[in-house]
Amino acid sequence: MAGFFDQAVVNQVQQANDIVDVISEHVNLVKKGREMVGLCPFHDDHRPSMNVNAVKQIFKCFACGAGGDVFKFVQMRENLSFSQAIERLAERVGIKLKRAEATKSQAGGQSADVDPNKLAKVNEWAAKYFQENLVNKQEGKSVLDYIAERQITRESVKKWQLGLAVSGDDLIRAAKAKGIPMKLLEQTGLVVGQMGSDLGDKFVNRLMFPITDVTGRVIGFGGRALEKGSAKYINSPTTALFDKSNTLYGLEQARHKIVSSGTAVVVEGYTDVIMAHSKGCDNVVATLGTSFTSGHGRILRRYAKKVVLIFDSDTAGMEAANRALEICLAQHIDIALASVPEGKDPCDFLLAAGKEQFEQLIDQAVDVFQFKWNRLTESFSRDETLAGRKSAIEEFLQTIATSLWSGNLAAIDRGLIVNRLSKIIGLDSKEINAELRKRIGRAAKTASYNVENQKVRSIDLGDGLFAIAQREILEVLLNEPKLFEIVKQKITAEDFDVPMLKQTASILFETLITDPETRLAEILARAESPEAGSLIVELAQSGEAKGNFESRLTGALDAIRRHQAQVRKSEIKATEDQTQFLRCFLENTGKQNPRNVGMT
Ligand SMILES: [Zn+2]
Repeated sequence: MAGFFDQAVVNQVQQANDIVDVISEHVNLVKKGREMVGLCPFHDDHRPSMNVNAVKQIFKCFACGAGGDVFKFVQMRENLSFSQAIERLAERVGIKLKRAEATKSQAGGQSADVDPNKLAKVNEWAAKYFQENLVNKQEGKSVLDYIAERQITRESVKKWQLGLAVSGDDLIRAAKAKGIPMKLLEQTGLVVGQMGSDLGDKFVNRLMFPITDVTGRVIGFGGRALEKGSAKYINSPTTALFDKSNTLYGLEQARHKIVSSGTAVVVEGYTDVIMAHSKGCDNVVATLGTSFTSGHGRILRRYAKKVVLIFDSDTAGMEAANRALEICLAQHIDIALASVPEGKDPCDFLLAAGKEQFEQLIDQAVDVFQFKWNRLTESFSRDETLAGRKSAIEEFLQTIATSLWSGNLAAIDRGLIVNRLSKIIGLDSKEINAELRKRIGRAAKTASYNVENQKVRSIDLGDGLFAIAQREILEVLLNEPKLFEIVKQKITAEDFDVPMLKQTASILFETLITDPETRLAEILARAESPEAGSLIVELAQSGEAKGNFESRLTGALDAIRRHQAQVRKSEIKATEDQTQFLRCFLENTGKQNPRNVGMT
C-alpha cells in the first residue's frame, strides 16, 4: 500500500533516490565489506551500528533494530508519515507528484495538522521574499551597505540566501497576497501573536539568515537586529521542523569538507561561518548563538572524527568551552579547543589575519587534557583556598577519569598525568590512582545506565520448530524470490501463525504473486509500519548470511508439512477421543437407563 500514491510512482521515486546518497546526507558512511556502515541516528550510537546495503537498498541498525528502505529512513529521520516521505523524496529528485486531494488521512506524522513538508515550502518562500527585499525595498540599500562594510561579498549573500525583514506585518501581507494560509505561516514561527487577533511578523527590521538542514531545506531563520535597542540575534522558535539545540548553521555546506578532512570546526555566529567559507575554510559550522548541546555532539559525531571548538577567551567563554568539552567527552568525541586572540570573534580574525592563520589556530587547538591542565594550574595560582583548590582537582580528576573510560585518553598518558598531578597537589600517586579508579567505575555505570534506558524494540517471533520454519521461509524468499514457485504450491500466508511473520508473509506473497521478480525495496515500500519494515530487513539479512536457500526451504516446508500433519492428527484424535467419550458416555447412560432407547 502506498497510501495516496500509485505503486508505480512509489517505485519511481524509490529508484531515483539511492539509499546510500540519502543516508549520506545525514550520516557519514564508510565502506565495510559489501555494505556501508555509519553511526545510527536513531539511538545514541557509539560504534557504527547502522549498515546500509546499496544492492538491496535497505538500512538496518543492529543495536536498536531500526531498519527499512529509503522511505522508512526519511520517515523516521524527519518524523513524516509514509505519504509525506514519498513527497519529500520525490521533491528531492525533482519528480512532480500529482497532488492528492484530501490530505486528512495523508497526515498522520507527529501531529495530524502539521505537515513538515508544507512548513519547509513556506520557509522557502519566505527566504526568497526576504532576499528580494534586499534588492527591491528602499531599506535594502542601507542594509547592503552594511553587509559590504562587514566585508561579506555578493557571492556570499547569494550563497547563504541572506535577506531582509522589514516593518511589522510586511511578511504577513505578502503571504496573504500569495494565498498562503495564516495557519501555516503561524506553524513556521514566522509570525507572533494570537490567531484571530493581532498577528505580527516575528522578524522586524532584521538581516535574515535562513537556516537549512543537511538536505538544504529551509527549516528556520536567524535574524540580526539592524537597529539598536532590540536583541542582537533572534531565531525561529521551535517548530515541527526546527529545534535550535539540534541544528548547526552551515552543516549542509560544510558536511563534505568535514567528512573529507575528518574535522569539524564549531563557532558561534552566522557571520563567522559565512566568512570562514568565503575564505575557503569549508568545514566550519555554528551553534545558533546557543551553547554546545549534546544534540550538536550527536550530529557532528556522524560526520567528524574530531571537533575543534573555537571559544571566546573571556570567563563566560571558558565556562561554555568547558561544558562543551564535557558533552563531547561523554559522547566519545575527540575534541580540541582554540580561542581567537585579543578577544576578536572568528569573523574579524579571518578578515584581519586570513585563512592561513585561522588554520594555524585550529591546528594548534589544545586537547582536553591540556585545556583542563591549564584550568587546574590557573585556578591553583588564582585560588589559594582549600575549597577552591579541592574543587579544581575534583573537576580535573573527573575529566581524566571520563576520558580514560571513553578512550579519549590513552592509558599510557595516565602515568604521566598522575605523576604531574602528584607533584602539583602533593598527593601520593597511589592515592590519585585509587581515586581515578573509583571515578572510572562511576563513569562506566552512568554509561551503561543510559544504554539500558534506551528503548529496545522487541517483537515476539514465537518459538518452537514451527515458528522457526515460518521464519526460514521468509528469509529464503526475501533473498531468492524465484523459489516462491515452490512455496505457493504448498502453503499460503494463512498457514503462518506468528502474527508479525504472518503479516510479513501476506505482504511478501501478495507482491510475489503479481511480480515474481520484485526487489526487496519494493516489498519494503509496502510495509507501512516501521516494525514491519525493520523485521523484513532483519529477515533478509539473516537469510543472506545463512545462504543454502533451496535446502533450507525444503527443510522448512517439510517442518511445516509435519506440523500440519501433526495438527490434523491431533484434530482427528481429538474428534476420535470425543466420539469415543461420547460412545462410552452413551453406553454407560444407556446401561443405567435401559428405557431410554432414543439415545442408542
Ligand atoms: Zn540504532
